[in-house]
Amino acid sequence: MSTTLAQHAVSRNDFAQSVKQQADIVRVIGEYVRLKKAGAQNYTGLCPFHGEKTPSFSVHATRQFYHCFGCGVSGDVFSFVQKLENVSFPESVKIVAQKCGIPLPKREFSSTEEAAESRQRTKLLDLHERAATWFEAQLQSPEGAAAREYLTGRGVSRETIQKFRIGYAPDSFQGLRSVLEKLESPETLRLSGLFSFKQQEDGSPGPLYDKFRRRITFPIANESGRVIAFTARELETGAAASGNEKAGPKYLNSPETPLYSKGQVLFNLDKAKQAIRQLKFALLVEGQMDCISVYTAGIANVVATSGTAFTEHQARLLRRFTNQIVINFDPDTAGAAAAEKSIALLTEEGFEVRVVTLDGGLDPDRFIRERGIRAYAEALREARRHSDFLIERARTLYPPRNPEAKIAAVNFLLPHIRRMPNLIARTEFAQDAAQKLGIDSAVMREELKVAAAKRRDSVAPMTGTACSEAERVLLRALSLPLDEEMFQRAAEAVESNPELFAGLGVAHLLEPLRLRSEHGPMVAVEPGAGQALLAEILMKEEGALEAHDLDAAIATLRQHHLQQRQRALRSEIADAERRNDQQRVLTLTAEKLSLDRLLRQA
Ligand SMILES: [Zn+2]
Repeated sequence: MSTTLAQHAVSRNDFAQSVKQQADIVRVIGEYVRLKKAGAQNYTGLCPFHGEKTPSFSVHATRQFYHCFGCGVSGDVFSFVQKLENVSFPESVKIVAQKCGIPLPKREFSSTEEAAESRQRTKLLDLHERAATWFEAQLQSPEGAAAREYLTGRGVSRETIQKFRIGYAPDSFQGLRSVLEKLESPETLRLSGLFSFKQQEDGSPGPLYDKFRRRITFPIANESGRVIAFTARELETGAAASGNEKAGPKYLNSPETPLYSKGQVLFNLDKAKQAIRQLKFALLVEGQMDCISVYTAGIANVVATSGTAFTEHQARLLRRFTNQIVINFDPDTAGAAAAEKSIALLTEEGFEVRVVTLDGGLDPDRFIRERGIRAYAEALREARRHSDFLIERARTLYPPRNPEAKIAAVNFLLPHIRRMPNLIARTEFAQDAAQKLGIDSAVMREELKVAAAKRRDSVAPMTGTACSEAERVLLRALSLPLDEEMFQRAAEAVESNPELFAGLGVAHLLEPLRLRSEHGPMVAVEPGAGQALLAEILMKEEGALEAHDLDAAIATLRQHHLQQRQRALRSEIADAERRNDQQRVLTLTAEKLSLDRLLRQA
């Protein structure tokens, strides 16, 4: 057993290595981040792991790693996919292999546990697919008449129903169950989140029954368009008419399952992502119905949060496509509060946010139905900067009639001002606020100014300039693949004359690089300043390293070391002479003479 497991591990590592060698890291990362060529072998873009407006995220094409000079993340193509897709290492290998068209080895790839997990996912995806198809069929059945009527009443066309796979969950406790229980075990059905059950007295789960009943169903898809959950809207008329049932929530969502986590999905992202890239902004609305009606009216770059405040994870999802967002939430109190929360998160993550408030207190769905898509597109163009929206909101919440209200309004705005990453934008925001709220108090103005001036901020300055050209060359050589001659020469030099290098600023990087295993150089050095320095050096490489560069660099470092020793000896000799220690003077002078000889030879 243990030998087979070990063999698995070995062949898996071999496979990962070979995928890594064949994969083009720039192409793979380029699918997630817009990259621009920045040097001979490096590309830059906006970091998907922290909010920023100027690119500090770099990818090295030949050395096959990425590094962000803003937040310090580093790694190879697998760790990138792992972090962004939130998957395990083996899964990341699989994804990269598929992206690069490298066939997967059949059996030995997965451990038993991973295989079980992936079988489980496949089953759950399959159940969701079948559920979606079944709901779709129910909508077209006689029982779905009321639901069809409702949809028609809201202007949802047949094409839209097909495109979004809108369906109907009939008023039955075992409609869906009777279909799916033939396919999978009760345990798998329970994990799917499509069913409810009551806990028995002994703590075990009771029999399963359909979770969604008398509801219009909207599938929620992952980024690749597979159904992973549902949100379901109650049929207003029916619930009121039947009267014998407790009215449930207006919208009922799938619970958290192995496939679905609410804060990690954006409704419609699968259909919208291409348009978001092209139009360079995303339109964010609150609910599925808004999203669907905006999308079908012809605005394709729209996504919805599914009725929750925006999460960090969702921000990261979006950042891969754009850093500009237009928010159009409901104008009611809850909507305004949600907009405010989302603005806070998004500006902190470095997004440029604008806000649409529609005339007449309408939500996007009704606005489009009543006034048409042209009027809506016009409203989008007139979206206000988020700072204007917030100042307006401060004025509504605390009408600036007296000094106390003005203080309250300023206090409402201060955290929003502090949150913005950009100094100029903060200053502008603070000045606008002072003006529009009519702040004449010197103290309040000062407070605003201070909020604008400081933010915990920002990118730490680089230390690369502290490092000499010779040190750079040495580090570049030590970062080459282990079987390259230049690596071996550099490693040998460091190993045989450690004293030559001990005094260097980069001394602490030499041993980790020299003694590293097959993993890349960035993995070998500790995260932090050393890693940032190495990344900077490697990103700035122009062309391949030549043997004579390395020889010259080692010679220079040696000379520096000897000169340093020479200076030290001079003062030691002077010292010994003062103490009249003739023996010591002799020894030191002998050493100095041989040093002088060495330096003359160099
Ligand atoms: Zn970063």
